Amino acid sequence: MIVSIDNNSGFCFGVTSAIQKAEEELAKGQLFCLGDIVHNGQEVKRLEQLGLETIDYDDLRTLHNIRVLLRAHGEPPSTYHIARNNGIDIIDATCPVVKKLQERIHKTYLEHRDAQIVIYGKAGHAEVIGLQGQTNNTAIIIESEKDINKIDFNRDIYLFSQTTMSIEGFEALREAIISQIANQKSPIVLEAHNTICRSVANRVEKLKTFAAEQDLVLFVGGSKSSNAKVLYEHCREANPNTYFIENANDLQDNLSPLSKIGICGATSTPQWLMQQVAQALQNLPQAYQKS
Ligand code: SF4
Repeated sequence: MIVSIDNNSGFCFGVTSAIQKAEEELAKGQLFCLGDIVHNGQEVKRLEQLGLETIDYDDLRTLHNIRVLLRAHGEPPSTYHIARNNGIDIIDATCPVVKKLQERIHKTYLEHRDAQIVIYGKAGHAEVIGLQGQTNNTAIIIESEKDINKIDFNRDIYLFSQTTMSIEGFEALREAIISQIANQKSPIVLEAHNTICRSVANRVEKLKTFAAEQDLVLFVGGSKSSNAKVLYEHCREANPNTYFIENANDLQDNLSPLSKIGICGATSTPQWLMQQVAQALQNLPQAYQKS
């Protein structure tokens, strides 16, 4: 019986750095975080035990003279505006990749006022709210090709992507837009920028290889994580015997004792959580041996 943890799974550098920042700032005194610091309930709980207090936008509007950490997903300009008005000290842990994307979208918005900015992403996701804010909330959010009717094919289109979406989904959307444009009488501009984070994209092939080598795969992720959903689907493609779990409590104790079990996770899955799952497997009735 072999249990192994995928070397390429776990926090990306953006999340690692936001969590490090939170730990450093917590050592200096009271600290609030706007929204869950990471889309992983177990890690949020760990940091809350260290004193981090999670607040929402309503809280932000009513609180004054506090210190608030902005997570790796980034925030729209309105958040900085509220903070300034309320004397709130911002500790900005926005991932540099997201920051750069925000700036790029903002620049495009200013330079092409008559065009449409389309963001391939999940409506309501924290990063998407931050990106949409760069366009005064005029950007069109498209989650899949099914939403394509939201786009006006008579006006220029500048397409970007939320950093954690799938490349295949982005390409399918781009192709769908191209075929719609082909039917138009007057030509329009389409600029498609694949802004999916390389830290996510580079993991996919390695993750699929890892998954294909296992008899059974346990994908550890948070239910709110977009990246976890995307990577889980890739694992399942490579190995249909893949299961999504949030933590060791989700383990079934009827796992086959003949299985070669692989544990992997998203960019928001802490290493300690995957190790906890590996440990729990070894405590199941069968004897498991860690590789
Ligand atoms: S997935 Fe990429 S863009 Fe998102 S936080 Fe991690 S490093 Fe930054």
